[in-house]
Amino acid sequence: MSKHYDLIAIGGGSGGLSAAERAAKYGAKTAVIEKGLMGGTCVNVGCVPKKIMWYAGMLSHALDDARGYGFGVKRLGHDWQKLVDGRQEYIKGINDWYHTYLKDSNIDEITGEARFVDANTLDVNGEQFTADHIVIAPGTTPVIPDIPGAELGMTSDGFFALNEPPRRIAVVGSGYIAVEIAGLLRALGCDVTLIIRSETVLRGFDAMLRNVLMEEMITAGINMMSSMQIEKVVKEDDESLTLHCDHGHVISGYDEVLWAIGREPLTADLNLSAAGVEMDTRGYIPTDAFQNTNVNNIYAVGDVTGQAALTPVAIAAARRLSDRLFDNQADRKLDYTDIPTVVFSHPPIGTVGLSEEQARKEHGEAVNVYTSQFTPMYNALTEHKTQTAMKLVCVGAQEKVVGIHIIGLGADEMLQGFAVALKMGATKKDLDDTVAIHPSSAEEFVTMR
Ligand SMILES: Cc1cc2nc3c(=O)[nH]c(=O)nc-3n(C[C@H](O)[C@H](O)[C@H](O)COP(=O)(O)OP(=O)(O)OC[C@H]3O[C@@H](n4cnc5c(N)ncnc54)[C@H](O)[C@@H]3O)c2cc1C
Repeated sequence: MSKHYDLIAIGGGSGGLSAAERAAKYGAKTAVIEKGLMGGTCVNVGCVPKKIMWYAGMLSHALDDARGYGFGVKRLGHDWQKLVDGRQEYIKGINDWYHTYLKDSNIDEITGEARFVDANTLDVNGEQFTADHIVIAPGTTPVIPDIPGAELGMTSDGFFALNEPPRRIAVVGSGYIAVEIAGLLRALGCDVTLIIRSETVLRGFDAMLRNVLMEEMITAGINMMSSMQIEKVVKEDDESLTLHCDHGHVISGYDEVLWAIGREPLTADLNLSAAGVEMDTRGYIPTDAFQNTNVNNIYAVGDVTGQAALTPVAIAAARRLSDRLFDNQADRKLDYTDIPTVVFSHPPIGTVGLSEEQARKEHGEAVNVYTSQFTPMYNALTEHKTQTAMKLVCVGAQEKVVGIHIIGLGADEMLQGFAVALKMGATKKDLDDTVAIHPSSAEEFVTMR
């Protein structure tokens, strides 16, 4: 006899947990199937460990900066293992909390890999479970390139498993995971080369952010290699790794290579065809605006949909889905426009809305841009200076703010409130009418000329 639920979520990550959690709140009988660690990518090998490592990098900068403020600071080295142990203990606390929380919320935890048997039935380790509603939220996994020697490198998952710091590492990729890991490792004293296929990092971001970040990374001592494709990785007799690149370039002497070239959906083993659920050519599951797949009562949320791959997006979409299914909120769905996001680079980036390039493409001459670039006051007394750059992208006679972009210290905490203003339709005048907070970097956004 199979066990029956109102809702089953495949995947105990940000999306699956949130769908089950919200459904259970409305009294639905729910279960979450998870094959790995509860919490998914974000908690175990994503946002959480990454942010801890970013904090470590920021502290490393702060130690140097403290001298300018009169502190006698002597670096006595860095205990990587202590950092990793502390980080993993923190994560274990979150994992453990989930188990208790799910139990207290009357959500069944099913451990193992889910496979569809039919549109209402899932198989996990030979046991069958049925549900009126099934939410597919298996997330994604890092891509490893199809080149000789690729297995000698690691992915972000491997990075979080390192028990000692790389001495000399080549980080391959230009997305946010690549620049974040390159930045934090450099801040922790590693010799870092960032290898990118095109001319620039963070494709799709406003050019100001990309340019300033590239400059900051070079100033920090990251060895940037652009327009370069790796064709082969070879392990030498002394165990070091050599990268053979296009146009005959050979770079050698690395103890680690990290692939951060993208992620792919974990859909191949779900046996989706048994339920009739369609995927696109890359294996993502397309949905309509309400997270419905092509099959009735089967939904997809989170990274597997191929939309903005961010934890709060997966959570928001999943919660709204359960609001609709179990609380009669028929129109409830996530608005995927103007999603704010932060890149935890050094210094961090905050961005929401249209880049200047996108705005000009959509609105042409109606676009008006305000910018500001300065050294933040924090750096007044420090030897190492960082840049802060800000941009407001406005449209039309009313100067509606359609894009807000910032790179600089504090950007990560600064953006959220401004994103609310943008989402509410703020104009440049609304920002100008807001009294500044002084002295701060954020005040530039309400005083731009
Ligand atoms: C290095 C890194 C840093 C990141 N940093 C940030 C950040 O700072 N901010 C941010 O917003 N986002 C960040 N992200 C992205 C964020 O982690 C994802 O957007 C988010 O985790 C997506 O949630 P999800 O529920 O779709 O999938 P996941 O969190 O990946 O969860 C899916 C779960 O499903 C399980 N699963 C898969 N297949 C099956 C199956 N067949 N049966 C049972 N279980 C299955 C998996 O084991 C996994 O636990 C980062 C990601 C990475 C890799």
